[in-house]
Amino acid sequence: MSDLDSSEPTTRATRTAVEDDAVEAFALLGNQTRLEILLAIWEAHDLLADDNGVAFSQIRERVAHDDPGNLRYHLQQLDGQFVHQRAERGGYELRVPAKQLIKAVIAGAGVHDEALEPTEIDQDCPFCGAPTAMSYREGTLFWACQECDGMTPGRDFASFDPQGPLTGHPFDPAGLDEWSPEELWGASTVVGWRRLRSAFDGVCPSCSAPVDGWFEWCADHDPAGCDDCGLRFGTTAHFRCRTCGHHDGASPGHLALFHPSVVAFYDDHGVSTRVRVDDVDNATLVYELGLEHEVRVVDEDPLRVVVTASHDGETIRLTFDESVRVVDVAR
Ligand SMILES: [Zn+2]
Ligand SMILES: [Zn+2]
Ligand SMILES: [Zn+2]
Repeated sequence: MSDLDSSEPTTRATRTAVEDDAVEAFALLGNQTRLEILLAIWEAHDLLADDNGVAFSQIRERVAHDDPGNLRYHLQQLDGQFVHQRAERGGYELRVPAKQLIKAVIAGAGVHDEALEPTEIDQDCPFCGAPTAMSYREGTLFWACQECDGMTPGRDFASFDPQGPLTGHPFDPAGLDEWSPEELWGASTVVGWRRLRSAFDGVCPSCSAPVDGWFEWCADHDPAGCDDCGLRFGTTAHFRCRTCGHHDGASPGHLALFHPSVVAFYDDHGVSTRVRVDDVDNATLVYELGLEHEVRVVDEDPLRVVVTASHDGETIRLTFDESVRVVDVAR
């Protein structure tokens, strides 16, 4: 890896001290009745109603608690930080932190220990044509080739499961049951692209803080199995959040598909770059377009990476700078 660029920005030191208000907030929620109250307000509220406050009587109906005085006490403990009562209407509403918490509970993040054993799908490996499989473990949905080494032809992943990784995206357990293994490929593509796009646009998809981008490239790259970098592609764009450390990496060939000039280029040739879960054929086509784009490091100081897309005899070139911003478009 000696030829790799070492301009990786440093992450801002993670806050190490847990502040008192965070401890208080978690302590407030360490109680079944209080979590049930939040869930009851969530279930009973009607987002589209003029008055979407939930009355105490509605909460009482939904929470199995035999002492109304005590139930009111728990509700008062949540009032302010997680719940607020509209004085003029009397109903209770969830504040944003409570909504996020309830969504996490519903999504099953960190609660259910779901897993999916490798399940073959009707989607061939883009590199060797062998069958591929979806699997899920510890909150990550993997797509992997069952024969080749996927995106890492030069790395020995004897201990890594799955072998032959093609993609791996964070995925909430609640989504697992909703899709067939085939549809999971489409859903994970949508989720992965949404998160990547957010990082590419400078905002962390996990915590909304600023994201830094940089390139790593391999000077003597061998795509068939590189001893230097171990990766399928010699040039990788990296993104890292300054606050929470979230990291994502992608081929610039795929990032080019987010740029409006490339979307328009393909559109002019009758090719849609839309990725939707219910159109796996087109999502596959878009993924493969990204693989076909030519990626070249044209200048090292300052770094410039050029991605070229060609279709029906026409080409478009995007130039990225060292922080993975598009600085020039030529068509
Ligand atoms: Zn393969
Ligand atoms: Zn290499
Ligand atoms: Zn973050």
